[in-house]
Order: sequence, then structure tokens, then C-alpha cells
Amino acid sequence: ETECVFAGIDFGTSGCRISVIDGDERELFSDSVRWHQLAASASSSTPTRQPHTDGALAADPSLWLAGLHRLMAAVPVEMRRSMRAIAVDGTSATVLLVDTTTGKVTRGCRLYNWSALDEDEDEAPAEGPRAWAMAKAVSPPGSPACSPTSSFVKCLTWLLERPLDADEKIAHQCDFVLAYLRSSEEGGPMEVVTDWNNALKIGYDCETLSYPPWLKGHRTAADPSMRATLESLFDALPPVVAPGEVLGHVAAGRVEQWSLPADCRVVSGTTDSIAAFLAAGASRVGDAVTTLGSTLAIKLLTPDPVEDAQAGVYSHRIPLSVLPPGDRSSSDPTTTDRCFLAGGASNVGCAVLVDEGFSDDELRQLSAQIDPETDSPLDYYPMRGVGERFPFNDPHRVGRLQPKPGTRKEYLHGILQGIASVEVAGYAKLKKLGGAPKAAVRRVFTAGGGAQNDVWRRMRERMLGVPVIRSEHTDSAYGAALLAKRALDRLSD
Ligand code: ADP
Repeated sequence: ETECVFAGIDFGTSGCRISVIDGDERELFSDSVRWHQLAASASSSTPTRQPHTDGALAADPSLWLAGLHRLMAAVPVEMRRSMRAIAVDGTSATVLLVDTTTGKVTRGCRLYNWSALDEDEDEAPAEGPRAWAMAKAVSPPGSPACSPTSSFVKCLTWLLERPLDADEKIAHQCDFVLAYLRSSEEGGPMEVVTDWNNALKIGYDCETLSYPPWLKGHRTAADPSMRATLESLFDALPPVVAPGEVLGHVAAGRVEQWSLPADCRVVSGTTDSIAAFLAAGASRVGDAVTTLGSTLAIKLLTPDPVEDAQAGVYSHRIPLSVLPPGDRSSSDPTTTDRCFLAGGASNVGCAVLVDEGFSDDELRQLSAQIDPETDSPLDYYPMRGVGERFPFNDPHRVGRLQPKPGTRKEYLHGILQGIASVEVAGYAKLKKLGGAPKAAVRRVFTAGGGAQNDVWRRMRERMLGVPVIRSEHTDSAYGAALLAKRALDRLSD
């Protein structure tokens, strides 16, 4: 019997996914649907629809809502009847403008990878360069808002193209879906709220928990038109709450349509990578998640924010309330009531294994023959392409896979060790930037294709000097479901 269940829905680059968990955080159900599948079924009923590219599909808010309906309908009805809360995560810096009186998207959406400096003839935004120049003039250097792909620059570009209407408000992908869940009628008013994590790239200051003065145009006194543009953007910003806060109830229409309990809650969300971090099991300061995919990404829970704009390192904030309560009150004196998530990404990674012809089968077989307790004499830097930012900031750095040893096994040993060395250097760098020792790593969870490799896990454990744990869950949707569940735990406390 399922008494209380909680749903998380992830909106990603290729499609959307739902995860339903119970009160013990066990996953009971999951399902996913890809944007092109949804587009195909939409176009069979409306044959006039234009063919799309994949990127364009991910940017179509009507497909997000179609995906939401598809996934909710796929959840067994007895589970829906006991659903207490729903939370959502979306891709970072994916924004649109919405008319909050009608719930209609007025402009957008601009996806995470849309750039104001795009030089592609068809895509190049005429006002992009001006918006970028303005962003550099008004935002502090190193701010996550100060990038050609930030939500801030995307919205500035819209404002320069055409002034905002009175009811036009800014919404991230996640905010839009959450607002839809709460809006009582199709075509009716919509209340947009965002969260600390989605708001970071629009300029929100997650240390002071406010929109900073520069966003209101305080640095542009000498330029009245710039100031007016910023003021108008400021008026369109959504209010910000912590991730994992109860926002309200699912609207009556959807409660009926999906057979939900009348008091099913809508819970504020986060970005997809933070949801994946939560899913992986990290739960207290010192916990980290390493993603061993085509490239290497590391994220660490720290008591203070860690920043290094040059190295692409910045911090998100995580409310302690979204971490599991058992771990939260750990007796560690370095634990504060604040918690940040510092991240860095290297160009080193498993892509090199593919380039060097290692199939997943060969990786399994050869890895089993490697002794994780011994060092390889090889000193590799397993990176594709040219240039690195983190943990070594060097735009001219090239990968190094020389000299070649006698056997494939030794070669693999060298590559795995090389990637692990960069992981070690990455955590050392975060520790240094974060004011060692309080930003030291104490436990590493692992996600990505390389997480399957247990020999590598033991090698990394020895090199890092801390426990390395393969994550049971890596789906963002599961992380969003945790947000929903833990928000309701607090509600009933
Ligand atoms: P992406 O970043 O492309 O999403 P994935 O997380 O799917 O990457 O991981 C794919 C990578 O995992 C491939 O580069 C592959 O070489 C690597 N991989 C798969 N199995 C193993 C293994 N047993 N040991 C090490 N690497 C592996």
C-alpha cells in the first residue's frame, strides 16, 4: 500500500522524466519521454506544425506542458491518488517571457546554450552584442550573470529588441512549469516564482538572498537609457524562494484531471545539475559528487561560497532543509547553518577512452586486470582538444597520452590514473579557493558512465584519501522528488 508519494519532474535537453518516491525515498516509478516523440504526436493532430530541429524542440514550452501531461498520465492512478507534492527542475539559464494575466508565452524560449554573441547568420541576435556590452558595464566581473549565455543577458537582449509589456514577466523553464501547475485555468493568470538556483544567472545574490543593487541600475547613473532598461528588467524579475519550499497547491483543474488529492502541493525547484547532485546522495558539508562522463565535473558542499571566475568556479546555495535531517545535525563543528555547492568542470574525461578505441566491454575486461593499489608510471593528461580552465587555467594546454606502454591494460591504467589525478587536483583547488580546511572533501559520490568501474573507484579512493561511493541514483528527476518529499516532511513537523 502506498500512503504518501512524491513526484519530481526533470526538464532536460532531450526530453523530460518523472520519478515517484515513497516516504522512505525509495523510487516506486519512473518514466520519460523525448521531445521529438511529443512533437511527432502533436504534429499528427495538427499537421500544419513546422518540422523542428532537436534544439528547437527543447525550446518549445508547449512541448514541456505536453510532456508534463504525458508523464503524469503514465503514473499509476493509485500512486497519483496518494501524491502529496510535486517539484520540478529545469535546464539552467533557460528563460522565456510570459504574460502573467493570460499565462501565454510572449517571447522565447531562449535555451541554456543560446548566446548573445552567436555568429550564425540565422541565429545572430541583432541586439545581442549591445546587451553583452551593457552586461559587462553593469554587472560585477565574475558574476554568473556576466556571460553571453546568462539569463540576464538573454533578457536584456529581449528588452533592447522591444520594451516589455506591463504584464510580461521573466520565467525560467522550471518556474514556468511550476506556475502552470498552480494556475487555475488555461489562459488564466499565472504567478511566477523562482528559486535561488535558477535565479543565479539572472544576477540574484544567494549570499545576501536578494537581487543586488547593480541589477537596479545603481552603477549606471551616468546613462539614463541604460538605467531605464535595467529598471524595466528589474520590474519583470520573479520573486525568489529557497529550492524545496511549498509554493501552494496544484490547481483544481489538474487535481481533477490527474486524480490527485485536493491538497497536493507544488514545491519550488532547482536546476537540473543541482537536482542530479541531490539525487547522488550528497548530504552534508564535505560531501562531493564527481561526474565521470565525456568530461569530468566535480561539485562539493562547502560552508562558504567558493568563487574563481577565471577558472569557471562559482557556487550555488543549498538550504540545509533539503538535505536529509539525520545527516544535517552532524556533530561536526565546521558545519554552519549555511551551505553552498561549489563546482568546477575540466575538459579531461572519458571521451578520451572512446577516442582511443576502448569499448565498454574492453573497459570492463581490462579494468578487472588492473591492481588499484599500484601506481602507473605513466603521467597522462587525458583531454580532448586544446585549452583547460579547471583545475588548471591554461587556454593553451593540450592533452598528453605519451609515451605509449606495451599493453592496452597498462595504457588504460595510465589514462584512468590521469583522470583521477585531475579529480584530486580539482578537489585540492576547491579546498584552496574555499579556505582550507573547511572546504575539504570528506566523501565522494560518483555518477556518469565511469561510475560503473569499481577498480577505478578503488584507485580513486586511494588517491583521494576519502571514501568513494557509487551513487545509487543519478537522475535529476529523483533529486527533484527528494525536494518535494523533504518539503512535505518539514510541513508535517
Ligand atoms: P556523457 O558525458 O557523454 O553523458 P556518460 O556519463 O554517458 O557520458 O559516460 C560515457 C563514458 O563512460 C564514455 O566515455 C565511456 O568511455 C565511459 N565508460 C563506460 N564504461 C566505463 C568503464 N567501465 N570504465 C570507465 N569508463 C567507462
